[in-house]
Amino acid sequence: MICPKCGAEFAAPDLRSINIAKDPSLKDRVKDGSLFMVKCPRCGSDSLVQEPVLYHDPSQRLLIAYTSAGLSSDGLEGYTCRLVGSIGELIEKVKVFDAGLDDIALELLKYVTAQELKKDVALKFLKMDGADGEITLTYPEKGEMQMLVVGYNVYSDCVGIVERNPVLREHSSGLVSIDQSWVSQFIAG
Ligand SMILES: [Zn+2]
Repeated sequence: MICPKCGAEFAAPDLRSINIAKDPSLKDRVKDGSLFMVKCPRCGSDSLVQEPVLYHDPSQRLLIAYTSAGLSSDGLEGYTCRLVGSIGELIEKVKVFDAGLDDIALELLKYVTAQELKKDVALKFLKMDGADGEITLTYPEKGEMQMLVVGYNVYSDCVGIVERNPVLREHSSGLVSIDQSWVSQFIAG
């Protein structure tokens, strides 16, 4: 890859096979993003890896791909396969599935929450915690990261909507991008 600071070219770590079964410690490094930070050997500045990433968690039957290369989900029946448009989205997906949440219901939750906020903002899942399973979302505003806490009941409502609309689940098989534009095609109008 090319250092965005000084332009030096150097070999980025190969992240095309992150297998959590082989090395469980990788999951935390994915979730905090440190696995994707690389240091330029010339100027020492840190930057985000721009190479393809394939995240595989056999125990959760989960595959998340950040790559434009042709990938097929053949042989991955019973797997949840997701295509993401950025490393940030990949990290978010891992957090969502690791919290035991359904990403379709969560994207729906983000959609309705943004509508209630009446703001055109990109909400991201940060965490779920507390005895009540409060869900914390973040979004950028005025150059700062804002936090927003949503009750678990809102998520439960979204799970219910997904269950009552099987078309959503039907369109999520294979290697798909489940994001805000994916959700909006079923909600809009
Ligand atoms: Zn550099």
